[in-house]
Amino acid sequence: MSADIVFIGLGNMGLPMAQNLVKAGYSVSGHDLVKASVDKLVESGGVTEADAMAAVAKAKVVITMLPASKHVESIYLGDKGILANIKPGTLLIDCSTIAPESARKVAAAALEKGYTMVDAPVSGGTGGATAGTLTFMVGGTDDGFGQARPYLEKMGKAIYHAGASGSGQTVKVCNNMLLGILMIGTSEAIALGVANGLDPKVLSEIMRRSSGGNWALEKYNPLPGVMEAAPASKGYAGGFGTDLMLKDLGLAQENAAAVKAATPLGGLARNLYAAHSLAGHGALDFSSVLKLMQKG
Ligand code: NAD
Repeated sequence: MSADIVFIGLGNMGLPMAQNLVKAGYSVSGHDLVKASVDKLVESGGVTEADAMAAVAKAKVVITMLPASKHVESIYLGDKGILANIKPGTLLIDCSTIAPESARKVAAAALEKGYTMVDAPVSGGTGGATAGTLTFMVGGTDDGFGQARPYLEKMGKAIYHAGASGSGQTVKVCNNMLLGILMIGTSEAIALGVANGLDPKVLSEIMRRSSGGNWALEKYNPLPGVMEAAPASKGYAGGFGTDLMLKDLGLAQENAAAVKAATPLGGLARNLYAAHSLAGHGALDFSSVLKLMQKG
């Protein structure tokens, strides 16, 4: 049986995104190295095939949501990759956060074979992925953006065309550098207030409504118990891993070096997340960076 959409990478983000495509009425074939994730998609009405490339060969659209550049390059390129297996007219959408150069490299290889590919990284976290309210930042041609839009609208609420191929990733790099910095700043402010004996809920609410208000205080408070739905209140499980934030801040630094931009706080933030990861917290949600400012 052929599915409309083949979705590869059913992790914290990919699974709820694929589930929203199923809810929208598409037949979705899901693939991941972790069988339990594939099983969850099938339980939600999706399908799967033992050989992902056999599914890819029949698809109208292939969507990938993988950890990093190396995973994306290895799954699209080469003799056994997606580009060697798809049929003419298949639309390719990569939603992973990867290096802009890597996105351009894969899209150029797709174009060389006559396929349309867009980079479409997302913002909004696992909550946004589940609720179908993600922000998509898309890099590619006007035609590619137009073709991808109907699918992205089933997974997100704000769909932006950032510019040519790779531009979605460049916006994402800028956004996540800011997010990494602001989560550290928010953690510092909360830790300082708590060390002074303030009630963290009262402190967070006042700052949320004041000039320090930001996304972390609105939706993702880093202190356990302040916000029931935030990863902090679930043992920092799920969410956006520290090691993924570390990867994104590394991409920002590489990019800054390439264009000779000054990003001093981005560099410091990368080092703080690296220290946090080295302390054994790489798999925890990135808001656990608060632990660096807490006693023992
Ligand atoms: P994740 O690690 O939870 O999921 C990645 C999935 O890809 C895993 O299930 C893994 O098994 C699978 N995978 C890896 N190689 C594969 C292969 N060859 N074939 C099939 N499956 C493969 O990561 P995530 O949190 O879902 O993030 C995915 C991407 O989205 C990353 O690039 C991340 O930076 C970005 N992102 C994450 C968030 C977030 O809040 N988690 C938010 C925005 C963007």
